[in-house]
Amino acid sequence: MPQVELTELTLSELETALAAAGLERYRARQIFQWVYRRGVTDFTAMTDLPGAQRETLAGRFRISTLPVARRDVSEDGTEKFLLALQDGRHVESVFIPRTPHQTFCVSTQVGCAMGCAFCLTATMGLVRNLTPGEIVGQVRVLAGALELRDSRFNVVFMGMGEPLHNYDATMAAVRILADDHGFAVHPRRITLSTVGLVPAIERLAGEDVMPRLAVSLHAPTDEQRAALVPVNRKYPIAEIIEACRRFPLVRRGRITFEYVLLAGVNDSPDDARRLAALVRDLHVKVNLIPLNPAAGIPFERPSDERIDAFAGALAERGVTVMVRKSRGRDIRAACGQLAVEGTKRSAAQRLADAIR
Ligand code: SAH
Repeated sequence: MPQVELTELTLSELETALAAAGLERYRARQIFQWVYRRGVTDFTAMTDLPGAQRETLAGRFRISTLPVARRDVSEDGTEKFLLALQDGRHVESVFIPRTPHQTFCVSTQVGCAMGCAFCLTATMGLVRNLTPGEIVGQVRVLAGALELRDSRFNVVFMGMGEPLHNYDATMAAVRILADDHGFAVHPRRITLSTVGLVPAIERLAGEDVMPRLAVSLHAPTDEQRAALVPVNRKYPIAEIIEACRRFPLVRRGRITFEYVLLAGVNDSPDDARRLAALVRDLHVKVNLIPLNPAAGIPFERPSDERIDAFAGALAERGVTVMVRKSRGRDIRAACGQLAVEGTKRSAAQRLADAIR
């Protein structure tokens, strides 16, 4: 019988699998604690399980990890990890210290199909989806390497990939991360950032475990946005705003709108005015992300004065606004700078993928 990968299972799936193997369901909670709180990957070390059960478990399950292929440390303390997947592909994950909390920024896909014009990951195209175990595995490995397993930390799905384009795996990962017997990351400490896939946002609105939502808006008009975010042709701004409006207010907390500032493209006082009008009656905050440049990305970061003026114009109109400080730029760990494989695709191919 092939071994089951234990790290792919939520607690309730593990309970079911244990029951099928003739073990008590509550053992699942003990195993979760060993794997997530203590970082144990060997059943023989799970000393509160009876010896015979440890053998049964070792026969039926395996607990894989993601070896660290490379680790870069930035001047500002940010660390970027290149992790090896079982099929020989790689994925990047970033640790951002004290912002004010410790934050793990994880990937949900190898590459990305969305084709956003300013994002380096987009140049890879979509290589493949990550599994729940590979998504949570990034947190397991980083928390272990940084000895933060027992600390409170945040998890943001803002690495490589579009989380809502890999919906089921991402939500299974949220459940595993949030489980009280595992890392017990409160769902409010988990943020899912999406390019704005409207049907998936609507589906998310009905979930019982609900991460915080961040939506990558990036432009105040459909014309501007479609040039930056191809999938806008399928889900235009008005539909995204509507989906946010329908999001359950009590549980959603405050939605964040992300807005990459590109010099001369979407950073004018008029753009700020239009953006303010769009979000005016929504309970949101706007997170401005000055472009993190990369070779081959045909945009520039606006000057600091221009960034301040844009933020000021929003604040003046009563919009809650923050400028995201970019971290780890010297090691290419900042937003939009993750890309690990040489599989560059043509712009036309990326557009086709994105609006499919
Ligand atoms: N697919 C998700 C997660 C992307 S990464 C999404 O689209 O939201 C998180 C944020 O970084 C997104 O808002 C993304 O648009 C932004 N980003 C991408 N490339 C960037 C770059 N070069 N500079 C600054 N931010 C960038």
